[in-house]
Order: sequence, then structure tokens, then C-alpha cells
Amino acid sequence: MRCAACGWFAGDILAVAGEGNGDMTPRVIRIRCKCENWNRCARCGGPLADGRLSAYEYDVALGKVLYRAAYSGLGHQYDHGAAPSRVVQPRVRALP
Ligand SMILES: [Zn+2]
Ligand SMILES: [Zn+2]
Repeated sequence: MRCAACGWFAGDILAVAGEGNGDMTPRVIRIRCKCENWNRCARCGGPLADGRLSAYEYDVALGKVLYRAAYSGLGHQYDHGAAPSRVVQPRVRALP
């Protein structure tokens, strides 16, 4: 079922073939759409990722259910320069 607001799939699905995290036990998992992504950055107020962290989402392009791990929000912190984004190039010194 697609969310009318954002167009992403949302709702409960029966996972029987290891969808999402590879767990082969038949179970119901909840697919979260973009509107349910409330993980915001404390610094700029922007969303940490496209979808909700630690939740399942349906990737239309891939045609399968994905699990968005919490650490995928870390990339946003790097946008603020929290981690070195540039590789320091070694300087080559000419011999005298
Ligand atoms: Zn939505
Ligand atoms: Zn931010």
C-alpha cells in the first residue's frame, strides 16, 4: 500500500522469505514511509536519512524490503564536518 503523502510504501507485510533482514522465520514487519521518518538532526533540524532509522522500508527501485540501520544516520553528521571528509595528501618534498 502506498502512502498518499509521500508515495512510499507503508503498512504491514508478511515476510516469509527473509525480507528485510534475512530472518527466514515467517513474521509480520511494518514498512515505514518517509512521513514516519522523525529522526531529526539536533544541530540543523534536518532529517538524518531519507527514511526512518532502525525501520523497514520498501525500495521500489530494487523491488524489495530493506532495513535501514541506525548508523545510516551518521552520514548526515559528516555533512557538518564532524568527521574528516578529506584524505590528507602526503606532501612530496624535493631533495636539496
Ligand atoms: Zn508517507
Ligand atoms: Zn544536521
